[in-house]
Amino acid sequence: MTDLSLRIDGRDVAATQGMSLLEAARGAGISIPTVCHHEKLEPFGGCRLCMVEVEAAGRTTLVAACTYPAGKGLVVKTRSEQIDRIRKLLTEQLLAYAPESEVLQNLAREYRADKDRFPKEPSFCILCGLCVRYCAEVKQRNAVGFIDRGPSREISFVPEIAAAECWECKECFPLCPTSALQAAFVLTRSRTSSEEVSK
Ligand code: SF4
Repeated sequence: MTDLSLRIDGRDVAATQGMSLLEAARGAGISIPTVCHHEKLEPFGGCRLCMVEVEAAGRTTLVAACTYPAGKGLVVKTRSEQIDRIRKLLTEQLLAYAPESEVLQNLAREYRADKDRFPKEPSFCILCGLCVRYCAEVKQRNAVGFIDRGPSREISFVPEIAAAECWECKECFPLCPTSALQAAFVLTRSRTSSEEVSK
């Protein structure tokens, strides 16, 4: 049911109460980039690639489209010099961690990001949290989680849960925008198998 309308990129867009700007825009065929969003998951607002400009009461504010509610009469811009500059910088930072990621390579082309701007620290995980949140929110298994904080933060499978749940599931694999998840899984599987052999 449509119960409000707003303007996005100069177009009138119909939305419903409770929709985010991202949902309203995508529903109208307007593309906004994200690497941490999934329609089955609670909005995360982690990657900030979905930043857009919102005009309200004569002021322009930058907001994350995935968490900002679509409101009646809002005027939204999904591209501008400022937005493109932010997306370019974010893409350059993420590329330092996962230089081979096709998702990031595409973003780099779109936003003219310099792939070598930041020194490479290829952990391959960009901490988008899709795998962790999908396993917790959709599968309710918590077989993969974040460990550590700050620069040492990474994802890790919980071997006991993974051994029982993941071998036949792997629904999180296609969500990963890099190769990090598969690598972590293979490592967990080989560790679990060698522990079983040594028992
Ligand atoms: S392993 Fe992949 S899906 Fe999981 S947090 Fe890292 S980049 Fe995201």
